[in-house]
Amino acid sequence: MGDDDYDHFYKVVLVGDATVGKTHLLSRYVKSKLPKAPTATVGVEFATRIVKLSNGSKVKAQIWDTAGQERYRAITSTHYRRAVGALLCYDVTKETTFKNCAKWMEELRQSAEPDIVIMLVGNKVDLADKDPSSRQVYYDAAQEFATQNGLLFFETSAVTDINVKEGFETLLQEIYDQG
Ligand code: GDP
Ligand code: MG
Repeated sequence: MGDDDYDHFYKVVLVGDATVGKTHLLSRYVKSKLPKAPTATVGVEFATRIVKLSNGSKVKAQIWDTAGQERYRAITSTHYRRAVGALLCYDVTKETTFKNCAKWMEELRQSAEPDIVIMLVGNKVDLADKDPSSRQVYYDAAQEFATQNGLLFFETSAVTDINVKEGFETLLQEIYDQG
């Protein structure tokens, strides 16, 4: 598929606390590999991928990463402007990152498109699979939060490649279905 051969253009933003794995998820999805360390200050604004939905429709997804600004609660309005989808990410082994999802959701609701489709993403599930005692956020608790707030929900691992493609593409399909 050529880079300008698509039917729909969707801007999607990654949000969530620092170190939950946003940059790794994006790299895994768009480049099929992990970013070279260190990632905290690497300022790639966005990456794109053209995806064919199940009905054959071609979507160009422009996925915006944060460049470490999440540490200072200083994400600019440019990040959110005209975003129709968001991956709201936390780390299943770090409870605080899940608690902060409520704040990130508020920010999305205020600054992005009003009907933005949001997917809650519990990343680093590989760690919880390997050592169940490391898990701080239970699947059912996150699912309940997602249901209450009308969010899609997936648990993922950027490192062992669990549900990354499925997560991004379920979000894109939902944006298409609601559009
Ligand atoms: P960001 O600040 O949200 O962009 O997070 P990064 O993508 O920079 O990842 C922060 C750290 O978490 C890095 O050391 C990654 O190697 C690690 N990491 C990211 N995703 C995963 C994952 O799915 N599993 C594990 N075990 N580590 C991860
Ligand atoms: Mg990052």
